[in-house]
Amino acid sequence: MPAEAQDKTETIVQGIPASQGIAYGQVFLFLQSEVELPVYEVEPDRRPQEIARFERALLFTRQQIQVIHAEVEKNLGADEARIFDAHLLVLEDQALIGETIRELETTGHNIERCFNQVAQRYIKAFSEIDDEYLRERAGDIRDVAQRVLQNLLGQAAQALNQLVDKRIVVANDISPSDTASLDSSNALAIVTDSGSKTSHAVIVARSMKVPAVVGVRDFTKLVQNGDWLLVDGYEGNVILHPSEETLFRYGKIQLKKKSQEQRLLDASRQPAVTLDGTAVALRANIERAEEIPLVREYSGEGVGLFRTEFLYLNAPRPPTEDEQYAAYRAVAEAFAPAPVVIRTLDLGGDKPMAGAAHLFPKENNPFLGYRAIRFCLDQRDIFKAQLRAILRASAHGCVHLMYPMISGQEELARANAVLAECKTELAARGVAFDKKLRVGSMIEIPSAALTADLLAKDCDFFSIGTNDLIQYLLAIDRVNDRIAHLYEPTHPAVLRTLEMIVTHAHRRKIKVSVCGEMAGDPVYTALLLGLGVDELSMTPPLLPAVKYLVRAMKLGDARKLAREALRLASPKEIHALCVKFHRTRVRLE
Ligand code: PEP
Ligand code: MG
Repeated sequence: MPAEAQDKTETIVQGIPASQGIAYGQVFLFLQSEVELPVYEVEPDRRPQEIARFERALLFTRQQIQVIHAEVEKNLGADEARIFDAHLLVLEDQALIGETIRELETTGHNIERCFNQVAQRYIKAFSEIDDEYLRERAGDIRDVAQRVLQNLLGQAAQALNQLVDKRIVVANDISPSDTASLDSSNALAIVTDSGSKTSHAVIVARSMKVPAVVGVRDFTKLVQNGDWLLVDGYEGNVILHPSEETLFRYGKIQLKKKSQEQRLLDASRQPAVTLDGTAVALRANIERAEEIPLVREYSGEGVGLFRTEFLYLNAPRPPTEDEQYAAYRAVAEAFAPAPVVIRTLDLGGDKPMAGAAHLFPKENNPFLGYRAIRFCLDQRDIFKAQLRAILRASAHGCVHLMYPMISGQEELARANAVLAECKTELAARGVAFDKKLRVGSMIEIPSAALTADLLAKDCDFFSIGTNDLIQYLLAIDRVNDRIAHLYEPTHPAVLRTLEMIVTHAHRRKIKVSVCGEMAGDPVYTALLLGLGVDELSMTPPLLPAVKYLVRAMKLGDARKLAREALRLASPKEIHALCVKFHRTRVRLE
């Protein structure tokens, strides 16, 4: 242990265990607060200095953007770099600069305040213009204004890709795009003040095998950059300045966990067949084509959920049809003849697209808002480019397509009508695609579950998104740590809903998969299979533990478990029943 860590007292705090693993290292404090603007009066004789300060900040911002421009051009190409040309133009806008100086002269306020007032007026005016190109300028002004303000205030813009050493990232919260830009070889672990097990940043951390503990309230106030920390992603313990004894104890725990994980991994090369002979398809959830080797490492049978929005999250503009086609095709080819289920864009909610902020205005209830299929049916060009890319990729493997957040049969029909248009366009151009492409719907909104009989008529399969389905059924925000304990996958309402969806699907002879986080928790595997679910799809590192249980249980017993669970009223009792089922079959001590 480093000498400076020895004189600090050990402090243990408890959070929500969100991604398994143990890590020990120094803190990288990632505080991404909105720029806080001071407001004060500037005496008339000091105003020329205030203007000079403004000019220096503009110049410095210009140099920063030029560096980024050059880097992006080198790494990603001239097209990607073009957005920064627009940013440079904002900095040269004489109207914006002149108005800021006039604001200083008339109000006498400090230059940060004046610049922000003027920039906000511009942003508002541009976002209301009925022209897409001009509306996009609002996003440019917002980005540039943020940079100028940070430079005026002397704050460095923080980004997780600045993480150059192996550190434990401690943050108030982390967005999915932050996690996507994270270099997993440098992030030893993640600890956040807020968040929950099903927030998308956590889902990404899990697939990167980065241990995470979330919902550790006010933890960012307790630590400083460079503090030594031990993170236990199994139990949710976070230990600041751990003692020698603690480190020794965790060293032993880590060895034991590693050996258990190795045993699960060895067993995962075997087929997923229950003791009474039923094969269960266990597929992988992925966010990017780069995860193909990870799926192979954990023996996923193809992909049950490709969250395509991650191609968009950190991009300066929506990826082109060709860029998407390349990614989808790579995944389809990698797993053929196994299926790859490509989900159309699920942007919005906790996944706004940074590079197209103007398309996602701030909403009071983003999870009930402009999201997923609603966004796609409104933004036809973006939707159609993606559908064409998926169709073209379908010529290279076993591609299935599914829509997220379908609320009912009419919405499904509208989405299918756009798909039909895309098929006609491609056919007219002689472009190859799978004419029998299977199309499914995610069931993650209660209205879809309640009309599963109607949806089943127009679908080739269902995939149940339990993350959202539970959030909407129980009215529990899936990313709010204050109510995370009320997010109960074993609530009787959830079980009844799952049973109902399966019954309607099977009546129409279509299969049902579960691709929410519930599918990757071996404690729930028997319950889901017992309720009649046909396939499970999960973050690749979770596959071995689920497969281990599948191979150690009988489907007949799982059905009995589900019947018993359906008779119970208490989520806790149902949970205990599932834990017992798992514990009596899996002993890895
Ligand atoms: C779900 O809601 O369960 C799901 C798989 O979709 P996402 O987590 O991407 O919202
Ligand atoms: Mg969902």
